Amino acid sequence: MTDGHLDGNVLAGPLSSVFTAEVSTAVAACAGCGRSGPLAAARVFGAPMGYVARCPGCDQVLLRYAEAPAGTTLDMRGIATLRLTTAD
Ligand SMILES: [Zn+2]
Repeated sequence: MTDGHLDGNVLAGPLSSVFTAEVSTAVAACAGCGRSGPLAAARVFGAPMGYVARCPGCDQVLLRYAEAPAGTTLDMRGIATLRLTTAD
């Protein structure tokens, strides 16, 4: 039985409108438990208008992404730091 979540790779497309770097390989540190890991490892729940990514360690919300006609909203308060790697 699944809880219906996707992995963080699903965020690569939507977040490419916000970040120019590859986001799925970015390393996020959870503001709740301090766990660091690739954003691709986050548990992502999707909806037609956006996504919610949760920490695989403590289940805290890492980020919320929502698209609306007036614009895109990105709430990253659950991420203490986000390290975007650079291409070699
Ligand atoms: Zn956590």
